[in-house]
Order: sequence, then structure tokens, then C-alpha cells
Amino acid sequence: MVDPGTTDLARGRGAREIYLAEIAKTRQFAAFLDGAEMESGPTGWDASMYCSDQYAGDDWLLVGDAGSFVDPVSSAGVMKALASGWLAAVVVNTCLSRPAMRSVALDFFQAREQEVYAGLARQTRLFLAQAAAGHAHPFWSTRSALLAEQDNTDFHRDSLRSDPSVTRAFDQMRAAPAMQMSRAADARIERRAAVSGREIVLERRLVSDRDPIGVRYICDVDVVTLVELAPSFTQVPEIYEACVRASGPIALRDFLLALSTLVARGWLVWRRGA
Ligand SMILES: Cc1cc2nc3c(=O)[nH]c(=O)nc-3n(C[C@H](O)[C@H](O)[C@H](O)COP(=O)(O)OP(=O)(O)OC[C@H]3O[C@@H](n4cnc5c(N)ncnc54)[C@H](O)[C@@H]3O)c2cc1C
Repeated sequence: MVDPGTTDLARGRGAREIYLAEIAKTRQFAAFLDGAEMESGPTGWDASMYCSDQYAGDDWLLVGDAGSFVDPVSSAGVMKALASGWLAAVVVNTCLSRPAMRSVALDFFQAREQEVYAGLARQTRLFLAQAAAGHAHPFWSTRSALLAEQDNTDFHRDSLRSDPSVTRAFDQMRAAPAMQMSRAADARIERRAAVSGREIVLERRLVSDRDPIGVRYICDVDVVTLVELAPSFTQVPEIYEACVRASGPIALRDFLLALSTLVARGWLVWRRGA
């Protein structure tokens, strides 16, 4: 992959000459192609990132690269296309078998495709930022800077761990001898679309005025259960045990991160107890 705007590969040569010179530098490919003749080309293929405003219409869905394209350095395009194709099949199945869920299913597809693109763009940005730090070349730095503008932080472990408000909430909880938690005035449990088997269904989610899409899991912790149980206890270990009883095994580290996030984002409010 080369950036036509920044590469110095060309140096006045033609594409065919450059291509053959680059192949000649390789070991395996050069041996493999020894004696082969080019029939045509080479031709360039655009690998720029793009995404759609709309992924679903009344009688169409944009699937895989038709909807969006992530930087090939992520090596995630095929996975994204497969996941997109799978979700499109679930959505179509829902539309056919439960017509009443049609618009919910189409909206879900739209939201999920946007989410996946944003998530992969974030991963790519991290990768490019690392590369830009080690390789002082505009190929890396330009992409890294471009993607930084598109970043959309959500509930990834790494971004939560480095979020000062989450760390602050955790430190405050740890320092408190006891506490009383309550759900924030605008935090509600409402039904939102989710995949269940081959269909889109409506599941319970924690939503608020600021976050109408809501969330069900943070770091694999069921936060609907967590936000319902937390107000009944004054000690964090008690809340943890109650959540494990209700939802099954949870890594303590994930639980603390999820609880701190709920406090930091204002879904749970707490005051020190006696
Ligand atoms: C340079 C480059 C490097 C990449 N490296 C990686 C990598 O390392 N790892 C990775 O996972 N992904 C990589 N990708 C991305 C990956 O190739 C794509 O994301 C993936 O192939 C998308 O699959 P798709 O089925 O959505 O689209 P495509 O694979 O493009 O399939 C669409 C098919 O539809 C056909 N078609 C188009 N129009 C019509 C029509 N009107 N009628 C009938 N057929 C039609 C096309 O010919 C094509 O075969 C790379 C992409 C590029 C460009």
C-alpha cells in the first residue's frame, strides 16, 4: 500500500517498472514469480476509508464494503463484511417473520453499522498513532491525525481505564467506608433493539436523557442488573456478590470498572454512608 500523495516510490519511473523493482526486492514472491510474465497492469486500487450516512432503507441494506470501508492496516475488512452480512440476514429474517419489528430491525442495522465503523476507526487510529510514533513519515502521521477527529469513545476497557472521571469514581468508592447509591433521576430501564438468535428483539437497557440508545453491558457486566441491585447495599463487595448471584460469574476487575463507569457517567449517584 502506498499513499500517492506522499510516496517517493515513483521517482520518475512508470508503474510497471516500480512494481517489478519492488517484487525483485522480495524473497518468496520473487522466487515464486521467477519466469512469469505480466499480461497487463499493474493497476492501482483505492483503499481510502469511507462510510455511509444511511445503511438501511425501506427495501435495501448496504452490506460490507458497500456500506463502509476501514483502513486495510486494521486487517478487519473481511471480518466486518462477514459480520455485516450475518446481521443483514438476521434483519431480513426479522422483517419477514415479524413484520411488526421491521422498522426496529432496520434502525438496529443502521446503528450497528455506524458503531462498527466507529469502533474500527478507533482501533485503526490507535494502530496508526503507534506507527506514527515509530516511523516519522507522513503516510502514518496524516492518517493518525485524520482519524483522531473521527474518534468516538465508548465503553472499551482501555478507554475506560484511562478515563480520569472513571478513575476518580473508583478512588472515591475505595476510600469511602460505606455508601448509599441511587439511580440518577434521568436513568431509566427501557427496551431497546438487540440480536437474539436469528431475530432482532427488544431487550432491557439502561438509558438516560443524555444517552437515549443506552447500554446493557459494560466490560461484559450486565449494568441493568447492576443499577437495579446497587441501591440495596452499602458495601461494594456486597453489590459484587449480589450481581454474581443474579448474572453468574463476573471478573472483579470488570465489575469495578463497570460500577465506576456508571458513577462517572452519572447513571448512579452516591453519597458516603455512615
Ligand atoms: C488493498 C487492500 C487490502 C486489504 N487488506 C485486508 C486485510 O488484510 N484483511 C482484511 O480482512 N481485509 C482487507 N481488505 C478489505 C477486504 O478485502 C474487504 O473489506 C472485503 O473483501 C469486503 O467484502 P465485501 O463482500 O463487502 O466486498 P467485496 O469483497 O468487494 O465483494 C463484492 C463483490 O461483488 C461484486 N460485484 C460488484 N458489483 C456487482 C454487480 N453489480 N453484480 C454482481 N456482482 C457485483 C464484486 O465484483 C465483488 O466480487 C483489504 C482491501 C484492500 C483494498
